[in-house]
Amino acid sequence: MARHKTEGRATKLIVAGCLVERYRDEIRKNIPEVDAVVGTGELESILEAAGIAPAPAATPSPFNILKGDIAAKAGQESLSGTHKAVESRPEGQLREQQGRFSRDDWQGAAHLLPTYLYDETTPRLLATPRASAYIKIAEGCDHPCTFCVIPNLRGKFRSRRFESVVAEAQQLVARGVQEITLIGQDTTCYGEDLGLKDGLALLLDAVAQIEGLRWLRFLYAYPNRITGRLLETIAKHDNICKYLDVPLQHASPDVLKRMKRGAGADIFLKTLDKVRATVPGIALRTSFIVGFPGESLRDFELLEQFIGEAKFDWLGVFTYSDEEGSRAHALDGKLQKRTIEARKRRLMKLQQSISRRAKQQWVGRTLDLLVEGESEETPMLWEGRTQFHAPEIDGRVFINDFGDQQALEPGCFYRAEITEAHDYDLVARIVSPPL
Ligand code: SF4
Repeated sequence: MARHKTEGRATKLIVAGCLVERYRDEIRKNIPEVDAVVGTGELESILEAAGIAPAPAATPSPFNILKGDIAAKAGQESLSGTHKAVESRPEGQLREQQGRFSRDDWQGAAHLLPTYLYDETTPRLLATPRASAYIKIAEGCDHPCTFCVIPNLRGKFRSRRFESVVAEAQQLVARGVQEITLIGQDTTCYGEDLGLKDGLALLLDAVAQIEGLRWLRFLYAYPNRITGRLLETIAKHDNICKYLDVPLQHASPDVLKRMKRGAGADIFLKTLDKVRATVPGIALRTSFIVGFPGESLRDFELLEQFIGEAKFDWLGVFTYSDEEGSRAHALDGKLQKRTIEARKRRLMKLQQSISRRAKQQWVGRTLDLLVEGESEETPMLWEGRTQFHAPEIDGRVFINDFGDQQALEPGCFYRAEITEAHDYDLVARIVSPPL
């Protein structure tokens, strides 16, 4: 990127995001081409950094017009008792006052943590294809996971105002967005700092009622925060994707304890049973870390056994990364790189056989498919996603037969029949005009 500037293709080089929170001084010192650094909490200074005049004053939130309508549709029960919180600012300190999720290493350094949150009036360019958009509903994280430095870079957990998220969703749908993915480090904590109980379920309930929104999903769920109300809300709305990404990180109680996450295989299996019973057919994604300090062969085998029993639709395995600044960095029992890599390969091989068998069951099913465009692998194929595929992460659906359609329109939904299944990917045939 620095070369873009020295060769004259770019006039400014601005580094923004987590990297700045961590290596602010080093970036400035080692890359003289950098004109400005903008941390996760300094987004509003980006115009100044770029030498651009500030944007005109924001327009009033359209939520005031829409709020009554949504509240009426969501029903008295779901929004009753939340009105005060809905009107409140997001910087609620409720959880902190209750002494929950405090991280020792924040004591004394809280004033250095980023506090920024955007809202529905913040100008935004969509970097995603026209039909899909992400909405960040909360920022930061208060969980104490020992391998993770994200809270140090992103700050304490804070939810965006309920009405701000709904207003942004309205605006996006009005711009032609048909799939919204609500994101945050831990979306299942949404609203706790606003005094909302089951805040994510309430939010999903409200956003799902926006006319024209075909798919709504959220990433990521914390395992012990998956409530009955949340699952019932997913089951209740046709346009809430039957998809849950719940990073479990491990299944051995000992490892999970050292990770400061708690629980274990037995508890997780019960949770998964409950999820599948309440939302039949739901696609489950998770991710694990192998090679966490102190992970014994027994711990690893417990994880392997758990994966064999849980039968996830999608699964990612990460090798432990010894992050400076994380508590795990100081733990003993570090494993050799080749042991960690071998464990990863073993789990991926197991998941491959689970996935291969499961994907075979998809053949013959007819599903709504969001067509994304020509495949990057070959112009002979196109690609799309079903509600069971989150953007950019899960296996792919290749389209090799347009049916009666002369051409397909990227960003449009079609009905498609699954005709072939591979280890992770599927092949489909279009069977309808655009929906
Ligand atoms: S792993 Fe996730 S839940 Fe744990 S501290 Fe990091 S961001 Fe928070």
